[in-house]
Amino acid sequence: MDFGFSPEEETFRQEIRQFLKKEVPPDFIGSLWFEDEVETDEMWEISKAMARKIGEKGWFSIGWPKEYGGQERSHIMQCIFAEELAYHQAPGCSIQGARMLAPVLLTYGTEEQKRRHLPPIAKGEIFWAQGFSEPEAGSDLASVQTRAVEKDDHFVIDGQKIWASGAQYADWMHLLARSDPNVPKHKGISYFLTDLKAPGITIRPLINMIGTYSLNEVFFDGLKIPKENMVGEKNKGWEVTTALLRAERSGIERAAVCQSVLDILLKYVRERGELAKNRLIQNELAERAIEVEVAKLLSYRVAWLEDRGEIPQWEAAMGKTYSSELMHRTANTGMHILGLYGQLAEDSKWAITRGMIEHWYLSTVSRPIAGGTSEVQRNIIALRGLGLPRS
Ligand SMILES: Cc1cc2nc3c(=O)[nH]c(=O)nc-3n(C[C@H](O)[C@H](O)[C@H](O)COP(=O)(O)OP(=O)(O)OC[C@H]3O[C@@H](n4cnc5c(N)ncnc54)[C@H](O)[C@@H]3O)c2cc1C
Repeated sequence: MDFGFSPEEETFRQEIRQFLKKEVPPDFIGSLWFEDEVETDEMWEISKAMARKIGEKGWFSIGWPKEYGGQERSHIMQCIFAEELAYHQAPGCSIQGARMLAPVLLTYGTEEQKRRHLPPIAKGEIFWAQGFSEPEAGSDLASVQTRAVEKDDHFVIDGQKIWASGAQYADWMHLLARSDPNVPKHKGISYFLTDLKAPGITIRPLINMIGTYSLNEVFFDGLKIPKENMVGEKNKGWEVTTALLRAERSGIERAAVCQSVLDILLKYVRERGELAKNRLIQNELAERAIEVEVAKLLSYRVAWLEDRGEIPQWEAAMGKTYSSELMHRTANTGMHILGLYGQLAEDSKWAITRGMIEHWYLSTVSRPIAGGTSEVQRNIIALRGLGLPRS
């Protein structure tokens, strides 16, 4: 058993760090879950510019085949890249496109879909949003009611999606729709790609509890999706969906931002000698340090399994549950350490750590919900990982 990284992997990590040091604007206030949290046009412009630079390096597509703009390197390398970007709270990540949709297209896409959609993702030119959830279909995603009716050379889509992160900025959306209402629910779903500028799409903002805008309702009214934009076979979209959800739950970003916040808190207490000596604070930070280590190991394991050609399902659910819940625990530790200062937002002159803990504390409430709730992940772990019967 080897818990270390190879010299090549360590060199790559250093290369990314040098790049981020040079390219991230010095006054940039990082975000702790970037793509979902792009809240202003200015942040989006910074993010897009950075994504192009990352694209030039070829880092969105480290593990893909060369013919689609990839480098044919390992999942561990891809994981190191994601870890560094998230740890440094850098702009420009492409969670929806590069980390979630691309692996699915590589497995289920047609040759034409791969050639059309993968290179712009690799170059950081085109951004994606996810149209899965509906008002009556979240945890029970297979209950989607958005309809897809086949007509000539296209499908006509009518219905509504909700909680679509970043759809106000994205160029394209990947989505599920019911293409056969007369069969068991998992068997009548198809998976589509649509240009978000196509006629028949209305995007409306949903303001979250922090008062910021990163989520959307998306309405389809007679939207036409050409047949060549269906991924996988008609009515077999559920298989594609589960692959996408696995990819969504697999990333190391959640663990990496916890490490980032932990290090910021450590720096803060070290600079204030009395705080650093406080036994309660020491204990709490030690507890978080153990947990961050566990969270990272769970994520590395997923990448390691992928490099062995295995499909980590419950393992990805385990990592997602643990690290998304840890995000909020780490925020809580920040609140305990900062005391009343922890409640101050970035625009207060008394704010410490530029209001990051206040923002992090509020925004992490939603992390165990997004991407599938912790309860649903525990069901997956119990059924698939532990082999327990369905209750
Ligand atoms: C910040 C954020 C970003 C998001 N971004 C996107 C996005 O980009 N695209 C997208 O499509 N969706 C997105 N979502 C939606 C997200 O996937 C859903 O919120 C999530 O799957 C839960 O669905 P729901 O909100 O309908 O809750 P419900 O499914 O109604 O669940 C309500 C409660 O019941 C529990 N529950 C439900 N079923 C079970 C069960 N079988 N066993 C045990 N408990 C159960 C849940 O755990 C939860 O506590 C986002 C959500 C958030 C918070």
